[in-house]
Parts: sequence; C-alpha cells; structure tokens
Amino acid sequence: MQLTPQAHIQYVAELAAKRSYNEPEFLQAMHEVLDSLVPVLVEHPEFIEAGVLERLIEPERQIMFRVPWLDDQNKVQVNRGFRVQFNSALGPFKGGLRFHSSVNLSVIKFLGFEQVFKNALTRQRIGGGKGGSDFDPHGKSDEEVMRFCQSFMTELYRYIDEHTDVPAGDIGVGAREIGYLFGQYRRLTGRHESGVLTGKGKGWGGAEVRTEATGYGAVFFAQEMLKRTGEDIEGRRAVVSGSGNVAIYAMEKIAQLGGIPVTASDSSGYVVDERGIDIALLKQIKEVERGRIADYAERRQGAHFVANGSVWDVPAELAFPCATQNELDERGARALLDGGVRIVAEGANMPTTPEAITLFQKSGILFAPGKAANSGGVATSALEMSQNAARDRWDFDHSEARLQAIMRDVHDACYVASERYGRPGDYVLGANTAGFVTVAQAMIEQGVV
Ligand code: GLU
Repeated sequence: MQLTPQAHIQYVAELAAKRSYNEPEFLQAMHEVLDSLVPVLVEHPEFIEAGVLERLIEPERQIMFRVPWLDDQNKVQVNRGFRVQFNSALGPFKGGLRFHSSVNLSVIKFLGFEQVFKNALTRQRIGGGKGGSDFDPHGKSDEEVMRFCQSFMTELYRYIDEHTDVPAGDIGVGAREIGYLFGQYRRLTGRHESGVLTGKGKGWGGAEVRTEATGYGAVFFAQEMLKRTGEDIEGRRAVVSGSGNVAIYAMEKIAQLGGIPVTASDSSGYVVDERGIDIALLKQIKEVERGRIADYAERRQGAHFVANGSVWDVPAELAFPCATQNELDERGARALLDGGVRIVAEGANMPTTPEAITLFQKSGILFAPGKAANSGGVATSALEMSQNAARDRWDFDHSEARLQAIMRDVHDACYVASERYGRPGDYVLGANTAGFVTVAQAMIEQGVV
C-alpha cells in the first residue's frame, strides 16, 4: 500500500538524516523544501510512486579532489575541491563555485540542492549543481589566486563542458577567478569553449548585466511583491547586509528606484549611512581595493561603523540579507520586526534561519526565499549561455529588460503556486512547490535514471 504524503515525506527525511547525518546545512535546505510538499503529493500521487523524492535528495554525482598549489613563499598548500552535480533533468548542471574557508561538503550540497529548484523557477532549462573549495582568496596575492585556480581547474575540467556542467561565481569567485579558471580550461582542452563558464569578462563572451543580476533581480522581485499591494520602493529605507557583489548591486537598484539603502556589512561589523550608501565609494573600496567595510565609514562623512554588531538592529521597511547562510536568526528577525520591516527578500542563499522564517510568516510580513528572489543571477548566466551558443551579444538595456521580465515571471509563478496550494502570498510554499513540480515532471517523463 502506498504511504500517505505525510508519511512518505517523513520516510524520505529520515533516509536523508541517516545518510547525511553530518551535513546540517544540507538537511536544513532539504527540510525547507520537503515541509512544503504535502499538498503537491496529495495532488500528484504519481510522484510518490516514481520515487521522485528519494532520487531528488541524492546528487547524481559528487566529486571531491585535492588542490595542491605553491604560495608566494614556495611553500606547498593543499585545499579541498568540490563539485556536486545535483540534478540535470532540466538541462546541464548549473551553479556557482564558492571559495571560502567555511566550505565543506554539507555547504556545497545545500547550495546545489537549492540551485535545482531555483534554476527550475527561472524556466531557462538548466539543471542544478554547485562547487568550490575551502580556499579563501582574501589576503592572497593575484599570483597565488591564479596558481590555485589553475590547479583547481586541472582536476575539474574532466567533469565539465557546455552541455554537461557550467560553473560560475559565488562567494569568493568573481571576474578575476573566472578569468584564471577559463584560461586553464582553454589550455587543457585546446578549445575556446565559451559556454563552459559564465560570468566571463565582457570582451570574451561575458554577458552584460551578469555582474549586477543577482542584486538587481532581488530588488525587482521585491518590487513585484510591493506592486501587488499597490506600492513601490520609492522613499523607503532598506537595510542590506553584506558588501559583495550581491549587496552592492541590490543597493544600486534600490537607489535607482528611489529607495534609500542605509547599511552595508562584512564579517567585522556594519556601517550605517543615513543619507544612503554612496555606491561609487563602496565599489571603490570593495571591488577595486578589496578593502574592509570600516574603511567606508572613515572616508564618508556622517557614516559610522559598528564593530561586531547586528545590521538587523537598524530600522527599515525593506530588508535584503545579501551576505551568507544563516546570517539572520530569530533575534535578528525580532529586531527587524520591531523596526517596522514589511518585506524581507533574500539576496544570499538561505540567509534566514528556519526559526526566523517562521517568525516572519506568523507576523504576516512578506518574505521572499532566496531560491526565488536571488534567481536573477543564474537566470542571467543562462542568458550568457544563449548568447555564447548563438555567438551573439546583447546590449545592457535589452539584457536588463530580459532579467526584469524573468523576475516578474518567477514572482508570478511563486504567487500562483502559493494560491493553488492554499496559502496565497506564502512565497516559501510558492517557490518550493513551483520549482519542485517542474523538476518532478521532467524526472517522471525521463524514466528511472
Ligand atoms: N552563485 C549564483 C547562485 O547562487 C549564480 C550561479 C550561476 O550563475 O551559475 O545562484
């Protein structure tokens, strides 16, 4: 006899907990999805019969490898490299590489799992994967970063190509790293295969708006949520965490739409700038000088730096967590609610803890999960792949218009699914169910593989 949807989900969760007992971030991401799926399985009992969930929680392939390199003192360093190829039912595996000291298999698996549903929501025919290393580019010379990237690609190149798996950037991997990785791939294969990586330099196959896309996309998503209630971003204060690529371009778009981004942060603390963050100065410090956020307060009159504090203590109507996983906990959520927050849109992947999400949902504010709100980055990567395949190049305005249309569609798909499964405006339910149904249907049609 077939299990009920609830019992089936519990069985799958126990299976994962047993196999992946030492992977807390992966289990957290998996629970967030499974907890939404009861109404879908009631509607589609065939998903249970076809073992879709058992197959979805197990990556198609996971690769771990040694990355040896020589530092500037000619001393041997060894890092660990990862690529988790999670699901390719919708297209080639697609997802970024993260270089950060916190990276381990659990972190890469959680990111790869999220990516499967996020990529499905974009409707760009891309599967989900993620990779990276516990190498931290901060404080390393350009030459060290280059040698590391060359060593990393010397192993990874066997497993990727434009039809198989297409990596890109994430935390610690930007234009510089993608350049070195691409150079080594080209040397090893003897081919200029531009579609194998996205986020490339614009002179050799990189797409316009890819750099801005994740941050811009998160703000476009928030704009769509506000539109439903007849409002817009103009005149509203926003707290933004982080000061990397996602945060900087979220702030830029908020400011372009007449909002006021008042904070930025890094692991040492945060800055408050009541006049609105000076984006050009922030870009100079973070993108050009690769400096710290405290430097911003020193160089900008009226701004102040708070060491080790919580950016969520700053009152605002809009909040964009754009730093990293689990950066917004229950205490932070309470502080945001006390400060009058009305919309929280995740620019980072899984920045909000499950307890904090529950609190936001109970309080009735609008909450957009990362797999919907930050999907603009990977969606624009898919646009880069299309341009590479067609040997074409779109201008900035056309590319931004495509991104905005995709974010509108992602928003609408989530909203419609939230209505269909009984909780209109619950974007967590909407994103998980809409993403899941797309992948599950493809998996069933392609048989047990
Ligand atoms: N790392 C980004 C993400 O979390 C983008 C991945 C990509 O462009 O492939 O979605």
